[in-house]
Amino acid sequence: MAARATRAAEILARLKADYPGSHCALAHGNALELLAATVLSAQCTDVRVNLVTPALFATCPTAAHYAQIPLEHLEALIQSTGFFRNKAKALQGLGRALVERHSGEVPRSMAELVRLPGVGRKTANVVLGNAFAMNEGVVVDTHVGRLAGRLGLTKATDPVKIESDLMPLFPRADWTLLSHLLIDHGRKVCNARKPLCASCMLADLCPSAPVQGERNSIVPSRSFE
Ligand code: SF4
Repeated sequence: MAARATRAAEILARLKADYPGSHCALAHGNALELLAATVLSAQCTDVRVNLVTPALFATCPTAAHYAQIPLEHLEALIQSTGFFRNKAKALQGLGRALVERHSGEVPRSMAELVRLPGVGRKTANVVLGNAFAMNEGVVVDTHVGRLAGRLGLTKATDPVKIESDLMPLFPRADWTLLSHLLIDHGRKVCNARKPLCASCMLADLCPSAPVQGERNSIVPSRSFE
């Protein structure tokens, strides 16, 4: 664990140096907007979500607006994000729950957030970390899960277990940033299909980096701790 923690510290330092402007890619001005954008980001790119949200946020500036807007109107506003019927229902359910249980405000605790309909630990972590600057956990999306595995920081595949493996390895103050950094590195270098190991600044710290003459297996092949 000690060696893994040392390696994790070096990984974090290099990621910070390489991605100094790393931040939440979902455009938002408050917690409600970020919550809505996170719902829309399921199975959709952040770029696409950011194209849709200005009109959505202008139409629904409060939780009460989501609770009351006709479903067809909501569906039309978010149609291009895919799965728009389910997402519209989720947004309306969220709006109603926020009005009924929290006076229209987004709650500031993990326990309250995960009790909202359709909100899991990942969405709650996104909101707490980025809208409220509270490091309650690490957001584990597809990029974070993939990189954590390739970097030999976890053997788990379940996002909640991956998160619990990552948290003790990194300072709590960096948990939200860590997720942004891993997402940036996953998008730019450690791609899902073709990781660019030859130009990766983490290669000497990564058990999945191919050694000379070896094909990249994209699974940890060396015994780093
Ligand atoms: S060395 Fe390869 S597998 Fe490891 S983090 Fe870099 S790109 Fe990903």
